[in-house]
Amino acid sequence: MRQIDVNFFPGWVRKSLTFTIDDGNIPMDRKFMEYVKPAGIRGTFNLKTPLTAMPLEDYVTFYKGYEIANHCKFHAYALTEKTKREIKNELFDPETADKAYAYLTDEPDLYRIHTYAWTYLAGTPEKYLDCVDQCQKQLEEMFGKGKIRGFVWPCGEQKNEKTFDLLKQYGFQSIRKTGTTTDSTGFALPADRTVWSYNANYTNLCPVAKLYDEYPDDGELKFFALGVHSKDFETYGKWDDLKFFCDLLGNRPEDFWYASVGEIFDYEDAVKAIEITEEKIVNPTPIDLFIKIDGKRYTLAANSEIVF
Ligand SMILES: [Zn+2]
Repeated sequence: MRQIDVNFFPGWVRKSLTFTIDDGNIPMDRKFMEYVKPAGIRGTFNLKTPLTAMPLEDYVTFYKGYEIANHCKFHAYALTEKTKREIKNELFDPETADKAYAYLTDEPDLYRIHTYAWTYLAGTPEKYLDCVDQCQKQLEEMFGKGKIRGFVWPCGEQKNEKTFDLLKQYGFQSIRKTGTTTDSTGFALPADRTVWSYNANYTNLCPVAKLYDEYPDDGELKFFALGVHSKDFETYGKWDDLKFFCDLLGNRPEDFWYASVGEIFDYEDAVKAIEITEEKIVNPTPIDLFIKIDGKRYTLAANSEIVF
């Protein structure tokens, strides 16, 4: 009986490694890159529009080599049904309505909401999707058509089902929320890419990185993503933790595959598309795959087959 093992990333490793960093904070992303780049760690930066920190062409140069994802125009919130009701009934009052005021902005269906703690923009489902679409168009114009494939909710997952449904229909490869999943899934690839999140952030990076490093091989493909803001390392004085992470898990291609979020999901899809019969093993995808047959390494090239 032939032993066929297709659960490998490039380099015949089981563990993938990536990051997903939000907001496009240029000085902090620059500092973040100074750590991850020499370690060979790759990943995805999630940008919101409008982009105002520097000329647009400089963004393209700055983020060269990294994947870019959509983090929504205006970093907008989805208007919840509750907020909407309150706006309709003109209940916004510091004493009675979540201590918030809402004002309609110059943009139709987009509200500026002032709470006791902060100010944010919130849109109706249709308006929200319009913000997503405008961000998408601008980022595609800058970074290339078809290059922007992921969406990341600003301010975490928004509890508006209609907005979520519209977002799912938009055709993103993945939709990320906020919050660490740590090891609760055994570092499995996300079961549902429309609600996936990162494994660790600045609060728990060192222990979770160690856990991932030591996680035993169970024959499955593994996934580790670091989130979520480069600024957090500065704000909370955690750059040493990022250094620890890079020193521990970086520059080890014999153990980890360093890729962007989108590349990892593409690769997973390609593995799932492999066709195995008595006579042959077929790779119908445009991605080179790394497999083992009876313990021996084979590269199953894009759109090719190995006949037994
Ligand atoms: Zn954000």
